[in-house]
Amino acid sequence: MSSSIYATLKKYFGYDEFRPLQIDIINSVLANKDNFVLMPTGGGKSLCFQLPALELSGLTLVISPLIALMKDQVDSLKANGIAAEFINSSLSAREIICLQDQALSGKLKILYIAPERMSLDSFKMFLKNLDISLIAVDEAHCISEWGHDFRPDYRNLRMLKKLFPQTPIIALTATATEKVRQDILKELGIEQAKVFISSFNRPNLNLSVIKKKNALEKLLILLKKYKDESIIIYCFSRKDTENLSNELNSEGFKARAYHAGLEAEKRRRTQDLFIKDEINIIVATIAFGMGIDKPDVRLVVHYTFPKSLEGYYQEVGRAGRDGLPSDCVMFYTYADARKHKFFLNEIVDEKIKKQAERKLDEVMKYAELKSCRRQYILNYFGETYLEKNCKTCDCCNTEKTTFDATIIAQKILSAILRTDSRFGAGYIINMLKGKLTDRMSDLGHNKLSVFNIVNDFSNDELREIIDQLIKHDLITKTGGEYPILIITAKGHRFLTQKEKIELTAMPTKEIDEERRTENLTYDQGLFAKLRVLRKQIADKMNVPPFVIFSDASLQEMAYYFPANSENFSLIGGVGSRKLESFGKDFLKVIIEHIKENNLLSKEIYKSRVRKKAAIYKQALDKDTSSATIDLLNRKLTIIDIAKARGLAPSTIISHIERQIDLGTKLNLEYLKPRQAVYEKIKTAFQQCGDEKLRPVFEYLNEEYDYETIKLVRLIMKA
Ligand code: ADP
Ligand code: MG
Ligand code: ZN
Repeated sequence: MSSSIYATLKKYFGYDEFRPLQIDIINSVLANKDNFVLMPTGGGKSLCFQLPALELSGLTLVISPLIALMKDQVDSLKANGIAAEFINSSLSAREIICLQDQALSGKLKILYIAPERMSLDSFKMFLKNLDISLIAVDEAHCISEWGHDFRPDYRNLRMLKKLFPQTPIIALTATATEKVRQDILKELGIEQAKVFISSFNRPNLNLSVIKKKNALEKLLILLKKYKDESIIIYCFSRKDTENLSNELNSEGFKARAYHAGLEAEKRRRTQDLFIKDEINIIVATIAFGMGIDKPDVRLVVHYTFPKSLEGYYQEVGRAGRDGLPSDCVMFYTYADARKHKFFLNEIVDEKIKKQAERKLDEVMKYAELKSCRRQYILNYFGETYLEKNCKTCDCCNTEKTTFDATIIAQKILSAILRTDSRFGAGYIINMLKGKLTDRMSDLGHNKLSVFNIVNDFSNDELREIIDQLIKHDLITKTGGEYPILIITAKGHRFLTQKEKIELTAMPTKEIDEERRTENLTYDQGLFAKLRVLRKQIADKMNVPPFVIFSDASLQEMAYYFPANSENFSLIGGVGSRKLESFGKDFLKVIIEHIKENNLLSKEIYKSRVRKKAAIYKQALDKDTSSATIDLLNRKLTIIDIAKARGLAPSTIISHIERQIDLGTKLNLEYLKPRQAVYEKIKTAFQQCGDEKLRPVFEYLNEEYDYETIKLVRLIMKA
């Protein structure tokens, strides 16, 4: 059975391997069991019913809450050559009758329907006459009143098990607490269902928090980094979304505001422009997101920090569904807490209010974290995460260096002491920096010896240092609207005993512009050309570009440069139908590009491990081949580089190979083996061709090892 599943996976979806749990779930579905699937957004839930649909004899019925999503999913299935349709209120009565006939004649494999259909007796009759093999309830949390997105129409689904007692049901969701899960199972009458819960870790999402100071400037830097790629910016209020969107447009970006206050038609249009890559930035309130499944959102920004971690993780979850590295950036300032608290105060129910306050505190704790953010969030959701360094959050990525803060701490504490512990941080900082205010001159504080004695730290840095001194318990801060700084007993001791103190150094660069370009080693020029082609085809077919190919597929193309249809078919996401429909057009662009730039196709490894290594590895261990090149430029031998980097020599050679393939100019002369050996191997390549190593190895009577042979090939190419 299992080999046919893999064949189906490649033929219809273009993939070689399953994501975690997919195969187990699919096997359980095909064994006629009821199943419950809890997987994060982007985990790949759809495949868990779409692939069985192709293996089963009858029709798979899919219940899905959102009209827009249904259409995108059906378009994607059709592009893969799968007979799928949907029935919902966007269609005319005549169209529906026509589709029903198609379903009855057994021509359809997958039929999506909206839940409210189930309240029509005529529709139930129609369903009864179908040969249904499987029922999938997508976004199953919508059935529970305890969930965050209860839809009364989902209550109609209670009757499914009664109407089709023999048909297996699969319920899928990305958000369900224990309570909601029990509710889903009970409502659907599938208490015996097998439960699959996957990890909520999304390793391709890079989590970071930056200070909301000069926010717009920082935002613009981020947006430029993601030029033309899909971005969602979450704002606090409707007004904020409009203001920011206007601002961005005047800066030359293609942005639109989106919030619940806009007319339905306008919202629909905005979504559509975004999905079709006509605009790339959505500036939204949290009203935006449920309705779209765009797989290639590369950046999610929270311009104001969110009010709960649950919401936060769901919103950032909309980034990188396609598995490619994506950024999630939260702007944080304590001052924004006031905006949230203003609304919390409106809550009448004391219990609910307390809970909302607790949730807000948890977000603020997250934002101020100095340890791994991923670990904190996964723990928060009840998962243990044991990695010491996740490599994809700002806390794990910044090297924590300390500096001797004795002098500056003495200055700050003295300033507090000289003004009798009666002022807040702002006042103390102004005084230290020599910024004279009316109040200060009235009080004569400009005459104190601590006035204007700091010029080596900025205001922001001083604030950060004060925060750290509070954490070290040298100072405390009173509560209330105007908190005052007070020296603690420990602080007094620090001053009188002339103790020393080390503090964490300020991060110098909050936004690492390099990170992204470093990560991706595919050919950016070709990628851009392929995107243009994708957009043209999509427009002609009137579907979103991601229906044609995902970014992940295009990046693989721009990495391997497949130049014939056999190699093209090995690219992830290229199934037989897509090969047939789009292969020629894409190959043409690829071949032109490699000719123009003198590039060579790379061998595509069929096994996932190799393929993944090529595409995703950089995301995990930061551009490793460029570090190799640095050492190479310092004329170290391959063996020494391997030792220095703790890698195998063959890995080092593959780094060099990759760089050469990308067109990096390298001087490898110094690595050349003895001239006689070099000539011999070179001749062997000329005789056997340079595609494969084995013939050369054999031609040379196995006298030279593969490393040396590979090295010679590199030198010949460089
Ligand atoms: P979910 O419904 O869990 O949010 P989707 O089913 O929409 O996730 O899948 C997210 C993305 O992952 C889609 O672009 C899909 O094509 C891709 N995907 C799913 N399964 C695989 C797989 N086995 N290999 C590669 N990509 C996959
Ligand atoms: Mg889904
Ligand atoms: Zn981390």
